[in-house]
Amino acid sequence: MNPFPLVLSAPSGGGKTTVTKLLMQRRGDLGYSVSCTTRAPRAGEVDGVDYHFLTEGQFIEHRERGEFAEWALVHGKFYGTLKSAVSAVLASGKHVIMDIDVQGAAQFAGAWPGAVLVFMLPPSVGVLLARLQERNTEDGATLLTRLKSAHAELQVVSRYHYVLVNDDLEPTVARVSSIIDAEEVKRERIRALDSQLADLIGTLDFEIRRQTTDDGPQ
Ligand code: 5GP
Repeated sequence: MNPFPLVLSAPSGGGKTTVTKLLMQRRGDLGYSVSCTTRAPRAGEVDGVDYHFLTEGQFIEHRERGEFAEWALVHGKFYGTLKSAVSAVLASGKHVIMDIDVQGAAQFAGAWPGAVLVFMLPPSVGVLLARLQERNTEDGATLLTRLKSAHAELQVVSRYHYVLVNDDLEPTVARVSSIIDAEEVKRERIRALDSQLADLIGTLDFEIRRQTTDDGPQ
């Protein structure tokens, strides 16, 4: 298998984290790239598991050393993906799933041309509003900030390879999983395809010659 990065984006409250966690539980061929952030941990979040929680100074050091495959300022906090985190998962033979915002996704696609970009749309503005209101107390970002972000994010969906509506969790997880399955058999990703084909064609040549000789005039 030729593992690849899969970037999952959606407006805030769009269910990226839940979808990512379920995919990770269900597919043994996926690893997660733990991002860095300068935001404070939420209740239950573990450093090194959910995020690497850094000070702004630490974040800037990584950035200046060129260690990020992408980074962005989201709702006033820094977020970034370490190149080393992505490479480590790929080197273990697993696809790497990343939950990153639209600015980061565009940078990442530039840095990693084989990446697969998936965008999850909310089923309606009503559902988006309800989801955002649920999350509104979680951090400093106000409902208005999140609505403005969602508005901006929807402007750049054309950068993504796949777009799906996240109406129900299970069908959404199944659809993202089928995208991974389809990408695995994409011709460009198949390792040593030319030599596999050359082998098959060579054997067929041999068989055709043999049959021609067997069936030919005696
Ligand atoms: P949260 O703070 O709610 O976990 O994430 C806020 C936003 O930051 C989400 O849209 C999430 O996708 C995005 N995000 C998380 N990690 C990264 C990252 O490494 N890079 C970028 N660009 N965005 C990220």
